[in-house]
Amino acid sequence: MSGRALYVDGVSVVFDGFRALNNLSFIIEPGELRAVIGPNGAGKTTMMDVITGKTKPTAGIVKFGDTDLTRLDEPRIAMLGIGRKFQKPTVFDALTVFENLELALKAVRGPIACWKWRLAAEQRDRIEAVLREIGLSERGQDLAGLLSHGQRQWLEIGMLLMQEPELLLVDEPVAGMTDQETEHTAALLARIAGQRSVVVVEHDLEFVRALGCKVTVMCEGTVLSEGSIDHVQNDPRVIEVYLGR
Ligand code: ADP
Repeated sequence: MSGRALYVDGVSVVFDGFRALNNLSFIIEPGELRAVIGPNGAGKTTMMDVITGKTKPTAGIVKFGDTDLTRLDEPRIAMLGIGRKFQKPTVFDALTVFENLELALKAVRGPIACWKWRLAAEQRDRIEAVLREIGLSERGQDLAGLLSHGQRQWLEIGMLLMQEPELLLVDEPVAGMTDQETEHTAALLARIAGQRSVVVVEHDLEFVRALGCKVTVMCEGTVLSEGSIDHVQNDPRVIEVYLGR
C-alpha cells in the first residue's frame, strides 16, 4: 500500500486554560484501520478537529506524509484526501441512494466533468462499485429517506468514498444500530481500510473487538494505552479509568 502516514506529534490544545489535548502522539500507517476509545472528555473529538484543521494546536505538529497540516485550513486539508464522517448522517432523504452518491461525486469533480458522456459512464461505474462496497447495490433506486438508520450511515460512508479519501475519520458509527447492522459496519470498515487509512472513534467495545485492529486508548488528552483490544482491556491503567478509582 502506498500512501501517506499520519503523524500526530506532541499535540496540545488549550481552551481558556483547560488542556483538552496534552502532548498527544500517535502514528497511523498508510492503509491502517485504528480504533480510538476513551471516556467522555478524553479529547477524542478535539483530536479529530485538530487533524481536519477545525482546531489549531497550541503546541505540537500534525503531518500527513511530508505535509504539515497545522499550517493549512479545513478546505485545504479536505482536498489533501482527509475525509470525516460525523456521528449524525447528512444524507439527502428526498434523493435516491444513487443520486446521493452522484452528488458526492459532483462535489469533488465539479459540474463540467459531468457534461462529458465518457465521464458520465465512468461515473456510473464508480457509483456502482461504491454501492457494492457499502452493501447497498439492491437499494440504489430507493429514496435515502426509506433506508434504516444503519443503511443511512453506510450511505454516508459511501458518499465519503466517492471523494476517494486517503484517510477517513469516522465518529461513533454504530451508535443506535442493531447487532446485525453493527456487524455489517465492522466488516465494511475493515474492508475499506487497506485502500485508505481509517480511524474510528467508538464507545462500543464489542464493536472495537470485531474491527480486529490496533486500539489507542485516550484519557485526559493523551494516549493512555495502545495495542490489541486484549492488551488494552487488560492494562491496569485502562481498567482504572473505566472502572473508576
Ligand atoms: P471526547 O470527544 O473524548 O468526549 P472532547 O474532545 O469533546 O472529548 O473534549 C475534551 C475536553 O475539552 C472536554 O473536557 C471538553 O469539555 C473540553 N472542550 C472541548 N471543546 C472545547 C471548547 N471549544 N472550549 C472549551 N473546552 C472545550
